[in-house]
Amino acid sequence: MSQKIRVRFAPSPTGGLHLGGVRTVLYNYLFARGLGGKFILRIEDTDQSRFVPGAEDYIMDCLRWCGMEPDESPEAGGPFGPYRQSERKPSYRAFAEQLVQSGKAYYAFDTPAELEEMRNRFKTAENPTPQYDHHLRSKMRNSLSMGEDEVRRLIGEGVPYVIRIKMPADEVVSFTDMIRGEVRFNTGIVDDKVLLKQDGMPTYHLAVVVDDHAMEISHAFRGEEWLPSAPVHVLLWEYLGWKNSMPQFAHLPLILKPDGNGKLSKRDGDRLGFPVFAMNWSDPRTGDFTQGFRERGFLPEAFVNLLAMLGWNDGTGTELFSMEEL
Ligand code: GLU
Repeated sequence: MSQKIRVRFAPSPTGGLHLGGVRTVLYNYLFARGLGGKFILRIEDTDQSRFVPGAEDYIMDCLRWCGMEPDESPEAGGPFGPYRQSERKPSYRAFAEQLVQSGKAYYAFDTPAELEEMRNRFKTAENPTPQYDHHLRSKMRNSLSMGEDEVRRLIGEGVPYVIRIKMPADEVVSFTDMIRGEVRFNTGIVDDKVLLKQDGMPTYHLAVVVDDHAMEISHAFRGEEWLPSAPVHVLLWEYLGWKNSMPQFAHLPLILKPDGNGKLSKRDGDRLGFPVFAMNWSDPRTGDFTQGFRERGFLPEAFVNLLAMLGWNDGTGTELFSMEEL
């Protein structure tokens, strides 16, 4: 393969890692190691309200214990990371403004009360939670519904605003997922997601695209819960003129409850009492559930093997694999 392989694990520092998060790391790590690529860690800390002090250390500690240290980290002697989005704030604003200039995004000045009022006013039996989208954007206070002078005046006066993507009313966005194959979305069902928040911080949608581009990510392995966000990301890659370097996506199936009904939760761990579901072993302070495995004397090799076997086998019935073999 001539393409440069670069993958990333991009956790939000909201606590220690959960089972699914470590499994995502494993897929990223093995892919990079298997193909001679790089695996980087990016801390997605743009949501200040959910930030948990120390979380980055718990995450690093967990990766170290599992033997899956990222490249380009100070520990690995690399020059850069772990990358932190909070340290890259000016770069995101520039791209958000570029999108406004090219007509792909717009300023929105609506207050929380006005947004609430919209939800109540346009609520119907078929549509109980109206979204900020192509149906409603003309009824709201934004740079698409007001004159340029008005927009300039509001910004000049320091009135807070967000920047939203202008989702096309009816277009098909498609991409090839490494697991799901061709995935198609109609843009009309996706709302005009906020890209830049009032505090000048990007949302996940903008930051993930800008950073995957800046960090030359070739393949993005992430949990399936991000699949509904993918059309927004694909459009952003296109609108920013980077479509040719868009990573290949692989949305990993989630670890489900034993009855297949929803995502595995802590309560299932309590009910089942089986080690792999022992999310109830998580450290109450940090949320890091690998702590429970460590304290009970589990070897990291066994733990990693267990994660690899969740939803995978090599067809031979072998159940024990070393990291090398994986
Ligand atoms: N920050 C996101 C998370 O917490 C990352 C999703 C992605 O990998 O794109 O899972």
